[in-house]
Amino acid sequence: MKILFLDQSGKPGGAELCLIDIAKPYRETSLVGLFADGEFKNILQENQIPVQILTQKSLQVRKESSLFQALGSVGQLIPLVQKVAQLAKNYDCIYANTQKALVVGALGSFLSDRPLIYHLHDILSPEHFSNTNRRVAVTLANRFASLVIANSQASKTAFIQAGGRSEITEIVYNGFHPQTYEIPMSTAQEMREKLGLSGKYIVGHFSRLAPWKGQHILLEALSKCPEDVAVILVGDALFGEQDYVQKLHQQVADLGLTNRVKFLGFRSDIPQLMAACDVVTHTSTAPEPFGRVIVEAMLCGKPIIAAKAGGAMELVENEVNGFLVEPGKSEDLALVISDCFHHREKTGKIAENARLSASQRFDVVNINQQIAQLLLRVLPIKP
Ligand code: UDP
Repeated sequence: MKILFLDQSGKPGGAELCLIDIAKPYRETSLVGLFADGEFKNILQENQIPVQILTQKSLQVRKESSLFQALGSVGQLIPLVQKVAQLAKNYDCIYANTQKALVVGALGSFLSDRPLIYHLHDILSPEHFSNTNRRVAVTLANRFASLVIANSQASKTAFIQAGGRSEITEIVYNGFHPQTYEIPMSTAQEMREKLGLSGKYIVGHFSRLAPWKGQHILLEALSKCPEDVAVILVGDALFGEQDYVQKLHQQVADLGLTNRVKFLGFRSDIPQLMAACDVVTHTSTAPEPFGRVIVEAMLCGKPIIAAKAGGAMELVENEVNGFLVEPGKSEDLALVISDCFHHREKTGKIAENARLSASQRFDVVNINQQIAQLLLRVLPIKP
């Protein structure tokens, strides 16, 4: 099967990392078209997935944009749509992996007469997107997509609530390679030493630095935890949230936590870093569409404490394979971290349950089969 994948980002966020696993089985015959250059292109190339940057200008369709602003970017869109329509003639379908990719992919699909698949990695709610962007996404998906793959029930529900067609929408969770997360104890110990946190109880947070990812909630919680607890914040501001980064550093200073918090920036050795942690936290203040980091922590055999909203609630059952806390409640988070700190045996069993079930439930082989079957269902051309 020949697939033209489209993604707007040059940076490797969750949707992009997921796309690597989806595109890989089709790499002999397919292409990933990006609307921006950057580290994501390098990762695709390392995985021998053909990639092409389709435009040098980044599209100005922002989360908060109004209809007027969205229309203002049409001038930029036209050449890109023409390019995609031309390219698509050599492929069986267009697979749009992000919202801007949907805009371009929908028009390209119409012009090239190729089916469109939309992988929905977002919760289309007012908390995350402007009215205009929600309307544009739903209208284009309803009109042009043969299939919408939602990354969770939460994403599917929000899509339908925003007017999306349920009959074209299927849920497929992200896939993972469980063996990537099997890290030897010695490597984990080395990492702890490298971090200078050998004797500490390490709480990890793995996410781009952005207000809704709630790193500030974890810092607040840390100030209420035992002295031996330290935090590593792994991730960078991917979409210009420099003010927030400044605020986090200020918060660390104000709370007197300088010796207990490490900012590690964007890292590509997530499994090794997670293995060095005693517990992993997810603190999003708005509902998370899926939450790759939650599954990754489980696969590493680490207790996960997640914010109780959105996709996280489909991944974590409280006290069975992890812990759920109310979003934004740093006191609650501090209590659960302290509880994990004091009851390591009980917590370890929960983490082991999580590892076993997640290795089955999110195995990339099964997930890719689900996608292959859905593609066969909607595409007229067989592989
Ligand atoms: N991640 C990474 N390096 C970092 C921080 C995060 O590779 O420094 C990865 C993380 O392991 C996860 C992804 O980025 O696979 C984030 O996906 P998630 O679904 O948690 O959030 P999103 O970025 O999609 O909002």
